[in-house]
Amino acid sequence: MSATLPVLDSDAKPPVADAPGSPVKPGILDVPADTLRAWLAERGQPPMRVSQIRKQILASRATTFEAMSDLPKPLRAELADAFSVFSMRVEKHLFAKDDTHKLVLRLGDDRMIEAVLIQDDGRATACISTQVGCGMGCVFCASGLNGVVRNLTTGEMLEQLVLMRNLTDANSTNPDRAPRLTNVVVMGMGEPLANLENLLDALAVAGDKNGLGIGARHVTISTVGLPAKIRKLAESGKQYSLAVSLHAPNDELRTRIVPTNDKTGLDAILAAADEFYEKTGRQVTYEYVVLGGLNDQPAHARQLAGLLTGRKAHVNLIPWNDVQGLPYRRPHDTDLQNLIDTLRKNGVSVKVRKRKGSEIDAACGQLRRRAEQEDRGQRRQRSRR
Ligand code: SAH
Repeated sequence: MSATLPVLDSDAKPPVADAPGSPVKPGILDVPADTLRAWLAERGQPPMRVSQIRKQILASRATTFEAMSDLPKPLRAELADAFSVFSMRVEKHLFAKDDTHKLVLRLGDDRMIEAVLIQDDGRATACISTQVGCGMGCVFCASGLNGVVRNLTTGEMLEQLVLMRNLTDANSTNPDRAPRLTNVVVMGMGEPLANLENLLDALAVAGDKNGLGIGARHVTISTVGLPAKIRKLAESGKQYSLAVSLHAPNDELRTRIVPTNDKTGLDAILAAADEFYEKTGRQVTYEYVVLGGLNDQPAHARQLAGLLTGRKAHVNLIPWNDVQGLPYRRPHDTDLQNLIDTLRKNGVSVKVRKRKGSEIDAACGQLRRRAEQEDRGQRRQRSRR
């Protein structure tokens, strides 16, 4: 992590509808179509305006009602009085030389979340949050240090996608830089399957050709492992990819690292993941945060290989990203290599997650924590004055 984080000046931030401190109007992407239709009808406007407005934001990159040139001018002004295009605003915008962007977003109720855009090989991948905080309590993760505050709404998840899509270059001719979002990973703050309904609604819009046009096969949902919800996801009939955060090869160690394991246990999670594969035909990815000395020893490698051999599985090893104040360390190269070799020898496909935007590589939830700490500091200073 670097102390010299490049912060874009305010002109370069994706424009948002509300100025700081102004009263928060409902984000239009969260207004149900029926409600909006009724609101429009009261003003003598036809129902098709609903899809026009949504298309303007989702497809045409409009960031203000004023810019929606296919709407009558007076209507644009009325919309702007009643709603905002974005209910959230960009609190911090950091970017790295490799075109990775990290946004700390301040929601309408002043809470903060994070979203990340990663661009490489012609892909533009958005990593979105699903909750404010996280209730899962994984001991190495910054997102859950203060528990979960609330679920994000469907609109709040869509807004993250739109804000990041708006950072892609629509006129890109560089084959490495996609002109739109191509992929979504639901790996930001929160437990996606604890907010599954809102998430599925948001992804349905993201997948629509009149929405963001991101096909289900390009969406990966990462979960701590909630068996009943994994089954529900499989039953949704969509071709989303599933990533399960395993992090340990036996229940004793997993419960220490991932406390929710106490109630579920590895067997139930693996069984649900197997069912997911059977129903959807989608290979499951197992994520394994490598914590130096804790879950990366030869015995762990052998146990992990034993669990996954014969399963249609892929392993993503994620060397731990430092979180200030937590007593863990990154793995030694030899231990990481041994994990890779042992899995490969047993026929399990494995990759080490690449570090992106390394100079802004604050681990999940860290940027938000810092922004919240700054907030509290400012409030204390104000109250002393
Ligand atoms: N709640 C979901 C999403 C979490 S974020 C889940 O548990 O899968 C996506 C992945 O990043 C998870 O595997 C999570 O365990 C991992 N992660 C969280 N903090 C990390 C850190 N400091 N270093 C490396 N990986 C981390």
